[in-house]
Amino acid sequence: MKKFLSMLLAIVMVVSMIIPVSAGSKKELDFKDRHTFAEVESTLKDLSKDYSTITELFSLGTTWRENNIWCLKITNKSIDDSKKTGIAVIANIHGGEQEAGESALYSAVTLCKESTTKEIKEILDNYIIYIVPVMNPDGYIQSFVLNNRPNLHPTDHNGNGVSFSDPYTDINGDGFISTIYKGTKDTKEADREKIGMESPDWDKNGKLGDDPRTSGIDLNRTFNYNYGRYDIETDPEINKESKSVVGSDATTTNGNGKAGGTEPEVKAIQNFFAKYPVDAMTTVHTGQQSVLYPWCYRAYDPNNELDDQIPHMKAVSEKLAKIYTDYTGRNFYSKQSHSDYPTSAEMIDYTYGRHRINSYTIEVYGPGMSDPNSDDIYYRSLWNNKLPETKWQFYDQKQIKEELKLDPDSLGLKKGEGLWFKTDARAQMSGKAPTDQDVMVKGFYEVLIELIKSEEPGGNNNYVLPEYMK
Ligand SMILES: [Zn+2]
Repeated sequence: MKKFLSMLLAIVMVVSMIIPVSAGSKKELDFKDRHTFAEVESTLKDLSKDYSTITELFSLGTTWRENNIWCLKITNKSIDDSKKTGIAVIANIHGGEQEAGESALYSAVTLCKESTTKEIKEILDNYIIYIVPVMNPDGYIQSFVLNNRPNLHPTDHNGNGVSFSDPYTDINGDGFISTIYKGTKDTKEADREKIGMESPDWDKNGKLGDDPRTSGIDLNRTFNYNYGRYDIETDPEINKESKSVVGSDATTTNGNGKAGGTEPEVKAIQNFFAKYPVDAMTTVHTGQQSVLYPWCYRAYDPNNELDDQIPHMKAVSEKLAKIYTDYTGRNFYSKQSHSDYPTSAEMIDYTYGRHRINSYTIEVYGPGMSDPNSDDIYYRSLWNNKLPETKWQFYDQKQIKEELKLDPDSLGLKKGEGLWFKTDARAQMSGKAPTDQDVMVKGFYEVLIELIKSEEPGGNNNYVLPEYMK
């Protein structure tokens, strides 16, 4: 009998070596690659099944296109939640910033996989980690067509009464959305006239791609805290000529949507923070490499009691920036968000202002080559990857008819004129991961572990729920 048991044990061991039991048996995600929203969803569902003792998956709400805003809660479920500190990670508020979602997803996968190690077990015994890899799924999905920041609030860009009636479409089959110019084969680059974006002219108005699937709304200017605030008398930063002050940021209300807290994605996140107490949160972005802390709408004021947590957040931000720099070998800086560039109604002002949550905007990827000699820290802190060169391709009128199936007359082309397709780096990188994205996501994970440890374990101490929200 004993012999039989030991033989059985030997067989079980051999079999389990061949077929990994429980978790990890499914296809491993390669974080060198980009993942579709469907892949993000199925990964989260798998984690919630494979690690059911430490995870719970729920939707915080849906978008204009009825996609779910998924949240994965990770914690040791056998310990009472009231004895734990909450930490939230909200990524991809901007649809095209997909390295942000990848960083959050990698963190979710790794926290689960490492959950039996001493370090992570201790974290999951004392903290609850909420991870929302994609807050703006509609914008995320659209960004596989062409990089797009806003959500898909139905918008009628060309005033024909139908929303999104001329969406960008790849008509020449090269896999990219090009910007369309007209000119002859000999027209120099600078003299080619921009006439639209790649599309078959779905709405047949002679203007290519003039009603694309994007709302123009920047969700990270649309939270219900100091919405659209612009204090020109007191804020010298507002008037400074800086790369981002003009346009949809603090100086205008363009891109802010209708009113604070009205977009479904923003509402869902605001409701989340009213329901789930957390002491620290991060909203994960790309575009630069930095850790930013509140306020976005004004400078730090040591005499204002609302600013009492800012020195703590400043110190944590400096530490996080150093960890990311050391891990990835790429520069990463920290700043008060307002001094980086002023804006209003950002998520971190909302979470700190309304709930006293220590809040950080973490930007994980600045595309392109760094310039170590630049005066501007932004240009000294890029990922150091070579972006694809802009491509130009000419189509004459015969090719326009036969290959592109467009009518040269409806486009107003004169004799000898044709179409120039310009495909820039942004178009060529849509849906593609940059070099070393796997290093980037691991760097973010290291930063997240430190961010978790920057809060005292064993229960929330700075989170508040205002009386009027109860
Ligand atoms: Zn962003």
